[in-house]
Order: sequence, then C-alpha cells, then structure tokens
Amino acid sequence: MSAEPTQASVRELLQSADFCYGAEVVTTRGFTPPEDPNHYRQFAEALLADSRIGYISITDSPGGAPMIPPDWLAGLLPDQRRRIVLHLTCKDMNRNGLESTAWRYASMGLENVLVLTGDLPTTGFGGAARGVFDLDSLGLLRLMQSMNEGLVIPGRRGEPQKLPATHFFLGCAASPFKFYERELMPQYFKLLRKIKAGARWVIPQLGYDMRKFNEIKLLLAARGMEVPVVGNVYLLTKTVAKMFNSGKLAGCVVSDSLMADVEKYSAGADKGRSFFRELAAKQLAVFKGLGFAAGYLGGIAKPETFFEIIDMAESYAPGDWRTFLKEIRYDRPGEFFLFDHDPETGLGEPSRINPDYLESLKHPKRSKQVTLGYRVSRTVHDVAFTRGKGLWNVMRGVYSRIDNSRLMSGMAHWLEHQAKQLGYGCQDCGDCSLPDCAYLCPLASCSKGSRNGPCGGSCDGECEARDKECFWARVYDRLKYYGESESMTEMPIIYYNADLEHTSSWANTYLDRDHSAPKEEAKPE
Ligand code: SF4
Ligand code: SF4
Repeated sequence: MSAEPTQASVRELLQSADFCYGAEVVTTRGFTPPEDPNHYRQFAEALLADSRIGYISITDSPGGAPMIPPDWLAGLLPDQRRRIVLHLTCKDMNRNGLESTAWRYASMGLENVLVLTGDLPTTGFGGAARGVFDLDSLGLLRLMQSMNEGLVIPGRRGEPQKLPATHFFLGCAASPFKFYERELMPQYFKLLRKIKAGARWVIPQLGYDMRKFNEIKLLLAARGMEVPVVGNVYLLTKTVAKMFNSGKLAGCVVSDSLMADVEKYSAGADKGRSFFRELAAKQLAVFKGLGFAAGYLGGIAKPETFFEIIDMAESYAPGDWRTFLKEIRYDRPGEFFLFDHDPETGLGEPSRINPDYLESLKHPKRSKQVTLGYRVSRTVHDVAFTRGKGLWNVMRGVYSRIDNSRLMSGMAHWLEHQAKQLGYGCQDCGDCSLPDCAYLCPLASCSKGSRNGPCGGSCDGECEARDKECFWARVYDRLKYYGESESMTEMPIIYYNADLEHTSSWANTYLDRDHSAPKEEAKPE
C-alpha cells in the first residue's frame, strides 16, 4: 500500500478492480464555536490523510435525531470532495427541499451521494418531529438521476427548459438481514428498481452473516445488474450489540447467537475488545475475498482504531477469509435465504434458488392477508377502473359530466370517501395508490406512507414503528397469492401529487389527473 493518500474519486475507487476501505463519519447535534479547534474536521482530515482510507462517508442525522448536515463538514474539506460520500435521507425534507439540497451539493462539487429513505424521527425540540417522507429513496434516486440527465422543467413561457446536467454518483442501500421471505423479497425487488432508477453502487445494511451479505451480489449477478457492492462493517461494543439485538435500531441486526458470543467475550479481562476488533477485521477480509468493491467501517470514534482494524484485516494470509466466512455466520434459526446453501463454501449457491421458495411460487398458500375485501377490490378494479375496459368509459363519462357541478361532484366525493374510509382507512389524499399496493392504503398502514416498496426498517415482519405489521410484507403476501410478486420489480415510481389532497381520487383517475394517467413522455423506469 502506498504511503501517500489516494487521489482517486469515490467513483474511481468503487469502479476499480482493487478493494478499498471507506470510513464512516457521524456529525453531532450541537456545534463547535468557530474559534475552537473542530473535532469533526480534524477527525475527517486524519482519516483522509492516511493511505489506508480510500474515502469517508458522512451520515445525515442517523437514528432520527437532528445533527449538523453532512455538507457542512464536506465544505470544510475543499480539496477532498471527490473522496467524500454524503448521505441524503427523505425524512426531514420534501421533494423541493431535497432537490435544492442536491443543487447545493452539485454546486459545491459534491457528487457522491448515498440516497436513503431514512429512519423515523425519534426525537425533536418540544417532542418527536413528524417525518416528511414526501419521497422515498426510490423517488429521490430517480429525481437525482433526472438531474444527471439534465432536468427538464417548465420555462418562463411554459416551454420545456433543460437544466445543466449534474454528475452525481448515486448509491443506495438494501437490507438482506430480514428474517421472513415476505420482508426480504420486497427488499430485493426494490433494490433492483433502485438500480434501474439510477443507483450505481450498493451498500447492504448491517448484519453479521457473510452468506446473507453475499446474497446481494448473487441477486445482482442473477439479474444481470451487477454494480459495485460495498461491505458494511460496524465495530460492536456490548452496548451497541444489545441495542441491535433488541431490534430498536432500524435495519441493524445482531442475532441471539452473536449476542451469546458478545456476552461470553465481554466477560473477559479486555471486555470483548479483541473479539470485536477481530470480528470487524475478519469481516473486511471476507468482503475483500468475495470481490466486494470496498469495506466500509463504522462505529469508530478515533482514526487509530480504523487503522488498527484495517491493518489486522490486511495481515491475514490470502486464503484465511474462507475460514472466517464460515465463522461469521450469525444467522437466525429458520431465517429465509433466497439462494440455496452450499456447505462447501458456506455461501449461497449462485445457480440454485431456494427450492422451498420456488415451490411456494408454484403453489402459493393463502395468507390471512388475502381477505374477501382484497378479492372484491381486485374484481371491482377490473370491472370499473381498468382503462378502456368494462365500465371505464361509462364512469369516465359520468365523472366528466359532474365535474363542473360543485354539488354533484361534492356528493360523489363524499360517498367515495365514506366507502374508502370504511374499506381501507382512506385519508383522502386524492391520488390513490390502492391498485399499486394490493388494495392496502399506504397512508393508513405504512408509517412512511411509502408507495414505492419497503424502507429498510422492518424487524421480524413488524414495522420500524413497532405498532403494526410491515405494510409491504402484507402487500407481498397478497401479490404472491396471485402469482404477481415479481411485478414488484417493474412497478413505475409513484410521485404523489399534493395538489390533489382532499379531492375525489375516482374523479382524478377517470379524468386523468392522478399519477395513473398516461404520460406523454417517457416517465422514470
Ligand atoms: S391512497 Fe389516498 S385515496 Fe387511496 S385509499 Fe389511501 S388515502 Fe385514500
Ligand atoms: S410499514 Fe414497513 S415500509 Fe412502512 S415504515 Fe413500517 S417498516 Fe417501513
């Protein structure tokens, strides 16, 4: 390894054949007065000055708490912008705020962005903040990819105006560490859509099972969508392990078997220090052996700790990672895997999909989600809401006629809302996604109102908010019963139109005012 720090950009690093290391930097709530030496700046500078670190990645208010935004820190490191990834989440800003932020990043020369939906806010001044989630990760990816292609906006006289193209290098996350098929498959399907939407690299969420990490690579290869995958390593402590094990931190999984090892080694004289460091170093070695593009290390407060773990990872003999791979298999009994197990390698077998899963696709069981209401909704949609078929033209004619009458259209809206509130818990958003979500209302049943697939926060089938089943697991059950689960890879990205709130969604559908209307130009995906 050269003694000089790399000059390569994140794009060059992740797209090269050489393995590199990334380091996580978390900012803070509160600030350092300008006259004081800035701890975060010194921390980031120390990392970037070292030849072992390829890039740093700065988080965006993780855990749902407010912190200094990542571009503040990146702005203090003007010579290193190519080596910085900024996280951008959808929890605190609507689409206009996100677009403005993206223009600011582009103007500052900050091109590497990890696009995330973000955690539900957990705190805030005077009480917990309301999460925004006007877009989710998929919607934001498509927005930023459109900026890369030259965003077309209405000009002053209404004619289309193409803005200068940005050069974002967009990344996305996905969680393979879901216990149930009904959680994992929607994660995988959404990942494929994220790549189609513009993601050029992937980082899996946190877990400690190397077979599961590798499934992401197997999935992308099986679908012909290979992009660089970054291995994610978080240095555990007993406290952090307990928190991950409790399921309280969205998307971070420590199984009971790993927790048992954590308890055992924490009882030693060094309180588990060597075990935790070795585990992290071995994970990095396995990622390198498996052909991941990088190993990304987080949960560390001192630059020396990064260097110590990377040195340890680099000190192993070339084939040692194969042994480590079999050691770091902290999955949970009964956990779902998409690829069949190969006992020889300890990994999934690339050419063999889980046979039980394949069988279940042929003969799907009827889950409790396949209710009478669902079946009736499908029939009603076929008869009355399918463009050009059944009652479509009649209903379109009726709604065209009553549209100019405030009384008649008001009555029709009132009736529609009563029926949909009773049947689906409708919140009267006016831009209905029932047909996109297997006749479940995303506003009534998903804490982030997500219309484009799951966030990464579910735990054992439950929502990140821990008050209900994950909405998208329920959608999956319904679609799978009708042999339609794969449609989750092809759904168009939905952007809710806030202009339609508290108006009749039926009128908006029949009169082509909502997101289901035929588009003149090619839409995202
Ligand atoms: S998506 Fe909107 S219109 Fe449809 S049921 Fe939910 S709130 Fe009502
Ligand atoms: S219901 Fe599922 S997709 Fe929605 S916020 Fe909860 S975990 Fe995320």
